[in-house]
Formats: sequence, C-alpha cells, structure tokens
Amino acid sequence: PRVVFSGIQPTGVPHLGNYVGALRQWVNLQHEEKPSTKLIYSIVDLHAITVPQKPEVLKQRKREVLAALLAIGLDPERCTIFYQSSVPAHSELMWILACTASVGYLSRMTQWKSKLSLDSSSTLDEGPVGSRLKLGLFSYPVLQAADILAHRATHVPVGHDQQQHLEFARECVTNFNHAYGNHLVPPSTITSPAQRIMSLTDPTSKMSKSHKAQRSRILITDTPEEIRSKIGSALTDSTPGVSYDPATRPGFSNLLEIYSVFDAEKRSPVQLAQVYANSSPKVLKEAVSDALIAGLHGIRDRYLDLSANESFLEMIEKEGARKAQESAQETMEIVKSAVGL
Ligand code: ATP
Ligand code: MG
Repeated sequence: PRVVFSGIQPTGVPHLGNYVGALRQWVNLQHEEKPSTKLIYSIVDLHAITVPQKPEVLKQRKREVLAALLAIGLDPERCTIFYQSSVPAHSELMWILACTASVGYLSRMTQWKSKLSLDSSSTLDEGPVGSRLKLGLFSYPVLQAADILAHRATHVPVGHDQQQHLEFARECVTNFNHAYGNHLVPPSTITSPAQRIMSLTDPTSKMSKSHKAQRSRILITDTPEEIRSKIGSALTDSTPGVSYDPATRPGFSNLLEIYSVFDAEKRSPVQLAQVYANSSPKVLKEAVSDALIAGLHGIRDRYLDLSANESFLEMIEKEGARKAQESAQETMEIVKSAVGL
C-alpha cells in the first residue's frame, strides 16, 4: 500500500517556498493518488524546538500553520493532519533509530551548519562549534526519519533542501534492518518539479520562515498590497535588461522562477526572460506580482475565517492525533518486538 508522509515546522505562516516546494503538492496528491493511499501530514513541533522558541509563540504558530494547511485546501477527511508531539511514537522510534545511526553521517549533513550560520565545510572538531551545537539540532534528521518510518511511508514529498535528509532516512532503514531483520520500509522522495524559491532580500539563500527579515519572504496569507510591495523591493542587479541565469543573476532568476510557477500560460523562466528581455525591473516585478496575487487568491480569506473558528481547529487537532496514533501503532509493535523491548 502507498503511504505519503510529509511535515512542516510551526516556525511561522508558510511562505511561497513552502507552498511551491511542498504544500501545493500535498494538496494535489489528494486528487492524484488513489483513495486507498494514506496521506499523512504533520506539523512538526518537536523539530521546531531544535532552535530556541518562545512557548507562547510556538503554541500560536502551531494553530497558524494548521489554519494555513486547511486554507490551501487540505481536506481533513481525506488526510491525517496532526501535531508531531501528539504522537509519542515519533520520539520513541527516534531513540531506537539513534542507537543504530552513525554520528559521522550526521556530521556531514548541511542543515545544522546553515541553522548555526556556519560554512558548509565546518566540522564538529572545531571547539566552539561543539558547544554551540545542541544535540537536538544535530540529531534532527533522526527524528525526521522516525516521523517517516513510524507511518511506514512509501513516498515523501519535500523541497530540494530536504533530499539529504531523505537519503539519511533510507540509511536508518538499512542500519535498523541489518541489525534486527527486514521490518522498516525505505521511503522514496517525491521532489517538487519547481526549483527552490530564494529569499527576496538575499537571492543566494533559500526563502525561509525563520529568517529575521520579514521582507525576505512572501507569506501565503499576505495581502495583494504586501505582495506588490515585497516583490517591488526584491533585490535584483544593475545589469540592463532581464535574463535568466541563476549563477550570475540570482535576483532576476528567482523572480522569473516565481513568475513561471504562477503563469497562466505556463511559460518557463527562460521563455519569460525572452518576453521581458528589454523591460525594466519595475515592469517585470509588476507582472510577477499580478501572477502571484492571482495564484494565491482566496487563501488569505479562508485563513482568516479558519483562524477565527477555534472550536473547529480544536476538533481537527483531536481527530488528527487519534488517526496518527493509530497509524504509528502497528510499526511500534513490530519494532519493539524485533528489538526485544
Ligand atoms: P525554517 O526556516 O524554520 O526551517 P522553512 O521555511 O525551511 O522553515 P520547513 O518547515 O523547514 O520550512 O520546510 C517545510 C517544507 O518546505 C519542506 O518540504 C521544505 O523542503 C520546503 N521548503 C522550505 N523552504 C523552501 C524553499 N525556499 N523553496 C522550496 N521549498 C522549500
Ligand atoms: Mg527548513
């Protein structure tokens, strides 16, 4: 049986990168997959606390992300939508996987380095790195592997930045199965066809929820005015004309990528660059804004309605926790018995 699993951190309202790289696909899978495919989507609050969070803010953001997921069209009847911490099996399986996971492999992963603003060549051996790096952030990929494996997921739709972690999840399966027999299922990645969406203020790094600069990202709940203003002030370059070249013109290339994703005529970034070759940045930015505003239309209003309906959100939370606990139970029984617990 096919099982789809994916997650999003409650570190803020989802942005354009999350939407294009992952969430849009979550919605589409509801129609593309057969009704027998289980669709399991988690708001991964245990992952969020790998970097400092204010408790009250975290609580608020979990609700915001839940409302946002419903606003983009996830159907709680069709999917299981739940908070990671409401299913203890995730933490429990993480520990068991950690006992056969290698520190050397984890130390080569890039996410902990980028979250600490370290260079990708940094190593654990550097003294100051070891004391700043918390064990939770370092072992993040083990928890992510547990999320996926607890539900026996066969397919995991994620953005490009998560491919490395999926690779590691397969490594966890190999290690566990080697030690205890063939009990865990290796997952396949479903990567989004769209490129990574880059930051509007620094187009050489990815758009991110936890980046300080508000103007670096478009939230899927932004008003048309906010979208126009953020796109209008996006960093480009001073070379005349518009062309698509991510290496030398990252700002323009990112705008063209975004435009292409939402273009009604489905033109590629390269085709759009030809159309706007002799246009001013302002003209291109207006066109990108128009396409984006049309593409995100309706999400904001549904989000505001849902956010105001606390009792409905509470009901969705309870039902999601129940379904997810049930889904993880089978694996936990198999795993614990295999390990001799
Ligand atoms: P944080 O900065 O807190 O890590 P984030 O923006 O990276 O937040 P996540 O919750 O870590 O968001 O990731 C949710 C999903 O969105 C993942 O599948 C990830 O691959 C995808 N994603 C995140 N940022 C981008 C981006 N800029 N472009 C495309 N996909 C992205
Ligand atoms: Mg992230």
